Amino acid sequence: MSDCLFCKIIAGEIPSNKVYEDELCLAFYDIDPQAPTHFLVIPKAHIGSVAEVDGDNAAVVAHIFEVIARQTKKLGLDSYRVVSNIGVQAGQSVPHLHFHVLAGRDMTWPPG
Ligand code: 5GP
Ligand code: ZN
Repeated sequence: MSDCLFCKIIAGEIPSNKVYEDELCLAFYDIDPQAPTHFLVIPKAHIGSVAEVDGDNAAVVAHIFEVIARQTKKLGLDSYRVVSNIGVQAGQSVPHLHFHVLAGRDMTWPPG
């Protein structure tokens, strides 16, 4: 999608600090980290949010969780939080599916 910020990051039009990349997804550090480790994992195909996951595109979500499990182990993280905000009220600011991976500090529950 041409006017999507994360599609521009995938295309290399906007630089990012990459954690991992393959043909299906990209992981990169958040520009405004909310924890000592904070990166995002996104599908390369444009999906608006979890609300747009369906039988045709769900395989990439499973793949992303496999990537999260592997990359967090590589980074030595044994406790972390995975978050996906859906819609403005929940705090979604970029309408391209992304999973936040946050680690390295104590976290509260419920989230604010
Ligand atoms: P959301 O608010 O939609 O859940 O998460 C979007 C995230 O994207 C935010 O944490 C924000 O800091 C991050 N972000 C926004 N623009 C950029 C950017 O240009 N580069 C990177 N690396 N992260 C960004
Ligand atoms: Zn996009």
